[in-house]
Amino acid sequence: MDLNKLADALVPDENVKPLEEYEKLYPERALEKGAQVTRLAPSPTGFMHIGNLYVALANERIAHQSGGVFYLRIEDTDEKRKVEGAVEVIHKSLKYFGVKFDEGADLCGEYGPYYQRQRAEIYHAYAKELIRKGLAYPCFCTEEDLEKTRERQTENKLLPGYYGEFAKCRNLTEEEIYENLKAGKPYVIRLRSQGDVNVKHTFRDEVKGEITVTENNQDVVILKSDGIPTYHFAHAIDDHFMRTTLVIRGEEWLSSLPIHIELFKVLGFRLPKYGHNCSIQKIDGETRRKLSKRKDPEASLNYYREQGYHPEAVRTYMMTLLNSNFEEWLLKFPDKPIDEFKYSIGKMGKSGALFDILKLNDISKTYMSKLSETEMYDFLKGWADEFGTDEQKAYFADKEYLCKVLVLCMGIGGKKRRKDFVCAKQAVEMISYFFDDTFKPEYAYRFENDAVKEILQGFKAVYDYADDCSVWFEKVKAVAGENGFATDMKAYKANPENYPGNVSDVAEMLRIATTGLANTPDLWTIMQILGKDRTLARLEKAIENL
Ligand code: GLU
Repeated sequence: MDLNKLADALVPDENVKPLEEYEKLYPERALEKGAQVTRLAPSPTGFMHIGNLYVALANERIAHQSGGVFYLRIEDTDEKRKVEGAVEVIHKSLKYFGVKFDEGADLCGEYGPYYQRQRAEIYHAYAKELIRKGLAYPCFCTEEDLEKTRERQTENKLLPGYYGEFAKCRNLTEEEIYENLKAGKPYVIRLRSQGDVNVKHTFRDEVKGEITVTENNQDVVILKSDGIPTYHFAHAIDDHFMRTTLVIRGEEWLSSLPIHIELFKVLGFRLPKYGHNCSIQKIDGETRRKLSKRKDPEASLNYYREQGYHPEAVRTYMMTLLNSNFEEWLLKFPDKPIDEFKYSIGKMGKSGALFDILKLNDISKTYMSKLSETEMYDFLKGWADEFGTDEQKAYFADKEYLCKVLVLCMGIGGKKRRKDFVCAKQAVEMISYFFDDTFKPEYAYRFENDAVKEILQGFKAVYDYADDCSVWFEKVKAVAGENGFATDMKAYKANPENYPGNVSDVAEMLRIATTGLANTPDLWTIMQILGKDRTLARLEKAIENL
């Protein structure tokens, strides 16, 4: 068979260059020994999964800690899944979490194009080469043909796929091929696998350790009928010519590894190192399952931006999932930038990483509690500008006022920082009572209305903005005493039945009247921040409501 002629007939592409040219065009990278070239290779579906961040961080850390390169390649071979603006979403969401690419799609770089659809020529050049060598062939099987094969395989409990006796087009004669072409039958190009499933190799996966890999015997599709490559073929060609040294990707690709090993071999390329990282799981009732795009809002990276999780807190949490020794390091160096942690691929989890939102919240609270009031102001403002309501955006007009609120709510200057803020959305909601537009109290007192009214009126009559906190508290006590409430906690504890309540119950009534809440930071300070008029107006409004 004239394989040169066949290659030209099957893959017509005037642009293909001699293969050596591609090697020259994309030379080995001049990097220090040990420097790793890694990449993120998402499909532009518009949806960024938390798993994308997980794998991006691992790749980024490894490249940058080794003095290497981390790049972005867009795997857009599946037209059906493509979404307009998706690449922007990828850049934007990863940038928020501090993941920076050195080169890649929509960035500079000498190893592009970084969109697979723009690389057709290279794939075609190598598909032709495999055809010329007899290592690839056209397959004219229809969906129905393949379905029939599948049924036969299921009936006979045989492995599924296109291999051996089931590879119907493997041995078509030259005449048959040209006849099919002449008849205009659509075709794909398949690899003529040289592998044998009875042969097993030991393979060192950088994450999983030593694993056994069975040789591939599947005649997998390398070019689809529209001339677009499959993931497998594009992966081998792109990671060779972009000079990737280490492929860290999801473990769902582990089962395809034998195909990739064979493809690199037949293409004459050196195999990169691989690390297959585990998927992110969650506990759902009694079971443990993968975080699902459909069921779990926290599976989406957008969720964390919308909720206003601080990116550093999310990064820190992700590191606890990524490296088993990170938490120990964090305990030792709680204030060091996390990029100083020596990331190691060998310390990545081998089985599922368990996602625990409560732990993320805990890390977030601690992180947020360490910010200064102006850092917090900037962070919350950034969130509100993008996601807040108009009323919430207005909180930021008076920076001095808001900073006072933040100093109080964060416990700045106190004995211990408060850890009330988890994320921006919750924090902004939490301070809503400081602003009249969003002060919508639901007064829930634990005492009879008449008793509350007496107390509020009593306090309102003696309230003076100029009082310092001890004078203020003496007044609260006096109002409590006048209304039969215990002012001496010892006496109260000895005989609680003698009193309707004690001074802290009275303070709670004042707190609810002023803020709508039973629990807040220091009430005297709140009244100081609110100011005289607003405090009196709130007491009045609460009294009217009784
Ligand atoms: N496009 C593939 C995915 O999104 C990339 C896998 C890889 O990193 O090679 O799963």
